[in-house]
Amino acid sequence: MGNSVWNEKRRFIWLLTLLLVTAFLATSGISYKVAHDSLSQQVEQNTLPLTSDNIYSEIQQDLLRPIFISSLMAQDTFVRDWTLAREQDPDKLVRYLKEIQERYGTVTSFFVSEASRNYYHSSGILKKIQDTNPQDAWYFRVRSLPESEPYEINIDADTADRSKTTVFVNYKVFDFEGRFIGVTGVGLAVEKVKALIELYQQRYNRVVYFCDREGDITLSGPGYRGQASLQHTYGLDKLATRILTSPSGNFSYEREGKTVYLNSRLVPEFKWFLIVEQEESQGEQELLNTFWGNMGLSLVVTLGILLIANMTLGRYQRRLEHMASTDKLTGTANRQVFEEYFDQALLQAKANSSALSILLLDIDHFKQINDTHGHSMGDLVLKTVASLIQDTLLDDEILCRWGGEEFLLLTHQDMVQASERAELLRERIANRRLKVNGHDIDIRVSIGVAQFEYQESADNLIKRADIALYQAKDGGRDRVVLNHP
Ligand code: GH3
Ligand code: MG
Ligand code: MG
Repeated sequence: MGNSVWNEKRRFIWLLTLLLVTAFLATSGISYKVAHDSLSQQVEQNTLPLTSDNIYSEIQQDLLRPIFISSLMAQDTFVRDWTLAREQDPDKLVRYLKEIQERYGTVTSFFVSEASRNYYHSSGILKKIQDTNPQDAWYFRVRSLPESEPYEINIDADTADRSKTTVFVNYKVFDFEGRFIGVTGVGLAVEKVKALIELYQQRYNRVVYFCDREGDITLSGPGYRGQASLQHTYGLDKLATRILTSPSGNFSYEREGKTVYLNSRLVPEFKWFLIVEQEESQGEQELLNTFWGNMGLSLVVTLGILLIANMTLGRYQRRLEHMASTDKLTGTANRQVFEEYFDQALLQAKANSSALSILLLDIDHFKQINDTHGHSMGDLVLKTVASLIQDTLLDDEILCRWGGEEFLLLTHQDMVQASERAELLRERIANRRLKVNGHDIDIRVSIGVAQFEYQESADNLIKRADIALYQAKDGGRDRVVLNHP
């Protein structure tokens, strides 16, 4: 019986654990997911595009300015008139270029004439452009640009200073009839743009870079961790086509286990894409911390509940077991428990040839007590007798309620000790007076005693004690009778 109760308890604890863990996981998980999603959405839909807007407008000021300056130069009537007048007095143009460079703070300014192929610079005529020189390829490229494209942006080493990388704006110049007469423009130090990108990276904790329409990275700051092109950057390769085919967009991809949010927009004047990236934010980490905090707390609560459940169930179980094994009224062992104990005690007595005796005890004229004082008083007498005997029990003894007002005491004492014990019990009970409504109730008991004989059966031993008890009753009650085989 105990085993099945225990199994059920274990099943219950498991079920409870499962239920609690599931519930806690579900609530923490769901709330994490909801917070995470709204944060991601916030980053993807708002924060990042806003940053991109800021960067875009600032870059417009810094990067688009050279385009406007170059456009201005290409439209300038002085430049066109001077060119058409066979490039007389080169100092005039050189002075003009110098003034442009100084006024607008560009790193270089130039004009290449189609007629003379002279390369004019703010410091003088640098060289003659030649279609056989690969360094001059840019000129012929610009010259053959379709009509719809009046200029190109080119990142190249400066013709005047080969050690510097410069963003060139190469603008086509036409005469008043629309004939191509040369290329003019200014150059901006890449370092300046890079510094701008770096500033943005630091200020907003974003990664900023540019790529051209083919996906090749054209400009990037020191925080850039990708490859030379979108297509070769892990995680981005799958997005490259989508990025390069739409003028702007919000994307996200996984990099080193973290979500990277990405905003792209085409800067039409450059035909470049401005790309702003942001890694999983600080808020994300906090969410994760909260999630683990919740899980920790849940674990503590789960353990607490399980501990309480276990204790409560244990107590309940012990109470059940006690109830099932004891007599409800007197708290003495019931017959079933007694029999188990008795069998063991007999085996032990046989094995060790030790003494084993039983005292069979019956309350005298109990029916009369019931009749005179009522049934509940009878119960009180039963309880009193049981507790008087129980008070004397040794560790290896057991008292059982054998019948209505009969008790059986199993002891490891021999006949001599057991008979003395019986006599003491009889006196002890007789001396105990219960007062009811001013009347004394005298309690008397008769006791039959028998000691276990090596070869006899349990039934026989009890029978012999019963005979002794009968003899005690017959002999006038309130006495102890021993049975010798
Ligand atoms: P004797 O001296 O020969 O033992 O006489 P007796 O009256 O004690 O014996 P008898 O067997 O005639 O009566 C036992 C009575 O015990 C009968 C029964 O109603 C009563 N009894 C049995 N169980 C309980 C109980 O749990 N509570 C109460 N109050 N009475 C009980
Ligand atoms: Mg009786
Ligand atoms: Mg009786």
